[in-house]
Amino acid sequence: MQLAQPQRVFFALWPDAEAAARLHALAQEQHQRMNGRVSREDSLHCTLVFIGNIDAGRLPDLQAAAAGIQLSGFRLTFDQAGCWRHNQIAYLGMRQIPEALQHLQSLLVKRLKSAGFNTEQREYRPHLTLLRKAECTGATKENPAPEPVGWAVRDFVLVRSSLSVNGSRYEQIGQWPLL
Ligand code: ATP
Ligand code: MG
Repeated sequence: MQLAQPQRVFFALWPDAEAAARLHALAQEQHQRMNGRVSREDSLHCTLVFIGNIDAGRLPDLQAAAAGIQLSGFRLTFDQAGCWRHNQIAYLGMRQIPEALQHLQSLLVKRLKSAGFNTEQREYRPHLTLLRKAECTGATKENPAPEPVGWAVRDFVLVRSSLSVNGSRYEQIGQWPLL
């Protein structure tokens, strides 16, 4: 019998091409001050719910939990910039989490819990990682972003993360539309 490989997966919101290009340019700008490693343009994302390692056999249950969600799309704007010293991440965040995002995130968590998945206990902090191993300088509090960047969220995705020599590689393995 062949044993199923564990898969490291998470749900996320993916920027459209225009937003990803602007975010990548911003990341390169920040890199000049904070060094570290710039996120790949095609890897930029906002995690919705991190699942972690699961058995491949459980993927259909995960997909079923996501498929039951019927919510409207919304506009997402990242207007704050910050740097977390504890994990050396320079990120964009938002002053206020839109109700529609909070709602999508908590409904997904609720459905995942009902399906028996473990989810993150900490408060949801939506963010886009621009740099890893960043040298956070000065105050660590958030400041207004040099320019707000956002996109119209029309779907959410399930992503598989695998480790490669150049860091984590992501592959979308599911996509569900918002109405
Ligand atoms: P790397 O770990 O190679 O630096 P990464 O953190 O982007 O890259 P993963 O560790 O696979 O890759 O994480 C995928 C996504 O899930 C990232 O957005 C990451 O911030 C988020 N994430 C990882 N671990 C957790 C966790 N324990 N709780 C919440 N989110 C997490
Ligand atoms: Mg990680």
